[in-house]
Amino acid sequence: MRETVLGDVTITRIKEYYGSVELSAGTFFPEAQEETWREHESWLAPDFVDAATGVIVSAIQTWLLRSEGKTILVDTGVGNHKERPYSPVWSRLSTGFLDELATAGVRPEDVDLVINTHLHVDHVGWNTRLDGRTWVPTFPNATYLMPRADFDFWNPANGHEPKLGRGNQNVFEDSVAPVHEAGQTLLWEDSHTIDENLRLDLAPGHTPGSSVLALESGTDRALFVGDLLNTALQVVEPDVNSCFCEDPAAARATRRRLLGQASDTNALLLPAHLGGHGGAEVVRDGDKFAIKTWAPFARL
Ligand SMILES: [Zn+2]
Repeated sequence: MRETVLGDVTITRIKEYYGSVELSAGTFFPEAQEETWREHESWLAPDFVDAATGVIVSAIQTWLLRSEGKTILVDTGVGNHKERPYSPVWSRLSTGFLDELATAGVRPEDVDLVINTHLHVDHVGWNTRLDGRTWVPTFPNATYLMPRADFDFWNPANGHEPKLGRGNQNVFEDSVAPVHEAGQTLLWEDSHTIDENLRLDLAPGHTPGSSVLALESGTDRALFVGDLLNTALQVVEPDVNSCFCEDPAAARATRRRLLGQASDTNALLLPAHLGGHGGAEVVRDGDKFAIKTWAPFARL
């Protein structure tokens, strides 16, 4: 199963990529000791780490939501044909992402809303597609919701020096600016209510404009937390950041706050990149957290 229903909202998992991200656990998560990975290896491998090589395994996926008659995409992956000189694993991909969407019954023109939880290379790629030599919005009828704090932070005109170094080279130019110039962006601040079921809230730390989409429908809850969790290890070790977290202290605080909220409200936690079942329900475990049950999606 790659679809589940929470209240009045249908959630479908659309895979773009699953496998090695060509970064060792020690490089991706420098704050986690090797012993910590080994301690949890029995359940982290093979879905989240390759035990033999110590290389991190990740999914690049889009959450397709149908709510109040609207078709909504949460994050748009890496995209095809993008030049990523400083992120070679994401350079010049040619995946069948749009076919995956079509299999789920969605044509590009059907998409009403695109949500970019933040503006990293692996969250905005399918915002645009190559038309001849020009990047054009992939979803011609969609409004693209972007957090203004990230729009400003990643705009090269503002000259910020991110932790990602030049890993986001070209990303603003080929995946953000063309949508903005087409008049299809809505830059939001602090919080943005989408409909009766869905609300975006700022959750800074990983990036200045990182955000969380909260689903509340009837008694059902879910939190789409983007890259607040990059691996399942961060559930049991919530203070461990990725090397791409711009503000380490804020990222830790935000991660703990949202894990607590998910535990206390029985919310299904759906990060952007978890392999395996793609998400989990979590519970408090002393001052840390534990997996209660995996999300009801088939294992990748
Ligand atoms: Zn990411």
